[in-house]
Amino acid sequence: MNKRRRNYGILVAGYVLVACLLLLSQNPEVVGNFSLLFLPLVLLAGFLEGTSGALVFTLLSAVTIVAGFLMHWMPQHTAIAQIVSLGILLGFIPVYHHDRDARQRAHMMQREPKEKELLKVERKAFMIRRQIEGYEKRLKALTKLYEVAKKLSGILKLDNMLDEARLEVAQLLPHHFNISAEEDVRLAFYIPQEEEGDFQRIAASGHEISDEGFPDTFKTKDLQRWLGESFSSLRIKEIGSDPRFQSLRHMTPFRSLIVIPLVMHEIVIGIMALGSSQPGAFSPQDFKHVEVISKQIVFALRKALLYRKVQTLSFTDSLTGLYVHRFFRERLREEVHRAERYHQPLSMIMLDMDNFKRVNDKHGHQVGDAVLAESAARIQEMSGGTALVARYGGEEFAVLLPNTAKARASQVAQAINTFVKATPMDVGGTQISLTISAGVSMYPDDAHSQEALIASADAALYQAKREGRDRVVIFEPGQ
Ligand code: GH3
Ligand code: MG
Ligand code: MG
Repeated sequence: MNKRRRNYGILVAGYVLVACLLLLSQNPEVVGNFSLLFLPLVLLAGFLEGTSGALVFTLLSAVTIVAGFLMHWMPQHTAIAQIVSLGILLGFIPVYHHDRDARQRAHMMQREPKEKELLKVERKAFMIRRQIEGYEKRLKALTKLYEVAKKLSGILKLDNMLDEARLEVAQLLPHHFNISAEEDVRLAFYIPQEEEGDFQRIAASGHEISDEGFPDTFKTKDLQRWLGESFSSLRIKEIGSDPRFQSLRHMTPFRSLIVIPLVMHEIVIGIMALGSSQPGAFSPQDFKHVEVISKQIVFALRKALLYRKVQTLSFTDSLTGLYVHRFFRERLREEVHRAERYHQPLSMIMLDMDNFKRVNDKHGHQVGDAVLAESAARIQEMSGGTALVARYGGEEFAVLLPNTAKARASQVAQAINTFVKATPMDVGGTQISLTISAGVSMYPDDAHSQEALIASADAALYQAKREGRDRVVIFEPGQ
């Protein structure tokens, strides 16, 4: 209880006591005079307890006055009882209200600074929570990126690594790559060809994230024109509305594009490109996401390219530059697994030079070597960038065509056959004409294992030889 309230309480109690004693003394005059005291008491009460206190004294005094008058005609004890009870009743109503208000006020007075402090603390806590949330988000993003980097860096084979990278990008932009997404977003990776330095597309094998629509190659000088000398990433909202991309417009069916150079030590070791048939398909946020993940892909790409280089050095034939038999078998195994996993066809062409012995016999072994090298180059050229071409034996070659059906493989075999036959090979001015035979088979229609695939292609080649050479025979199951 505070001091002011205590004083006020004493004041009220004293007043009531004196009023009662006076009333009991049955002297109306004194009572009347006493009631005049109410004015200074009202002022004092107002000072001590505010307006409610003043009101209490007004009422008490009024009651005392009325009591003074009533005492003339009412029986004494009744008047006293009524006056006292009325006084107490009337007096306590404002006291109660006043007390409640005062309690609330005091509570507020006490609470206010605490509440302010609490609010401050809460605000601070909120800011810290927000900060923590931000850190958590960043940590999550960094952890995710670290995991992506770890996962990608663990895959040494370029094709497999890029397939995984495709999945990661798709996960990063689920609104574009979701099956239910209305737009058709495509994703392609390019790496520079060693000789010319132009960028060659590395075909996607996972069919859910296609690179269809992207050209097989991008010329370095075109890329330089689009991305600038420093090769900065590019987001094109509408190819048609920008004259810089006129040539690009003719190359792709896309309306909007993201092109990100994969740069390592200021050297562009690859290009990642996303395309959509919708204009403005990619938001700045999408762009940012892709740019961030590209930083992880570039490390894995560098590793995969180095691995590929080492592999190429030890697994290629020095005369023809084609894969050696052993390496080809390894790749074949992987390709069969991949075809199985993605339910894709895998075609194989077995080739053998016709009557090659005669070339050696007629022109010598060295000329024979040169002819073999030229034949290998022609086979490679006709097979396309995605084919795996190997020197399978002495003058025998194998071509593996991932994600290619037999009809297309037969066309490739036919093109090789025609190319070899139609243009004689020039070896130091000597024109050498020769022909080649080929057998074509396909996984899974003709064979369910790598061994069976080789055997079926071989059987078709053997048949081509038997039927008179210089031809393409397509394996028929049950032959
Ligand atoms: P066909 O296949 O049409 O039945 O006749 P062919 O004469 O090509 O058959 P065969 O397989 O009997 O002969 C292959 C010849 O290829 C034998 C070998 O002298 C030659 N040859 C194999 N490897 C090389 C090589 O590295 N350099 C040269 N110059 N000749 C090679
Ligand atoms: Mg031969
Ligand atoms: Mg042979």
